[in-house]
Amino acid sequence: MAGANERSFIMIKPDGVQRGIVGDVIRRFEQKGYKLVGLKMIQAPRALLESHYEEHKGKKFFEPLLTYVGSGPCVAMVWEGLNVISVGRKMLGATDPSKAEPGTIRGDFSIVTGRNICHGSDSETAAKREIDLWFRPEEVANWAHTAERWIY
Ligand code: ADP
Ligand code: MG
Repeated sequence: MAGANERSFIMIKPDGVQRGIVGDVIRRFEQKGYKLVGLKMIQAPRALLESHYEEHKGKKFFEPLLTYVGSGPCVAMVWEGLNVISVGRKMLGATDPSKAEPGTIRGDFSIVTGRNICHGSDSETAAKREIDLWFRPEEVANWAHTAERWIY
């Protein structure tokens, strides 16, 4: 999936939900011009998180990470638009909030890596894998953005 149909899996972790940042994250992606095509609140079971974070299995932060992200509901989303994977990562900011620029979500709302508010896919392969993991096909909507010709 490339071009204006590119999709990314963006998730607000339980700290973002608890701290009332859900609306702000959605607003930033909407105002940028991206299209929301999937949205749900879910408290992820351990097996889902083990699979989602499989690249980090064995690292020392793996267990604390699963406890953190599984500790409450997350807001799982699919966003669509040109370069949404790379631009979405920029909008999130660096993984370590102390290195994230002001103006980014992590830079504006968080202090430590272990409570960094949000997740975003880091490649096309990861985006496809993560969307398929968190959403059933019928949970992702194909809808036309009436404002599209003012964005592209
Ligand atoms: P990103 O979420 O930016 O893709 P990573 O894939 O490297 O970052 O890590 C996944 C998540 O694991 C991070 O967002 C963060 O919540 C957590 N994490 C990564 N590194 C550490 C660390 N050194 N200490 C605590 N948590 C970490
Ligand atoms: Mg990652």
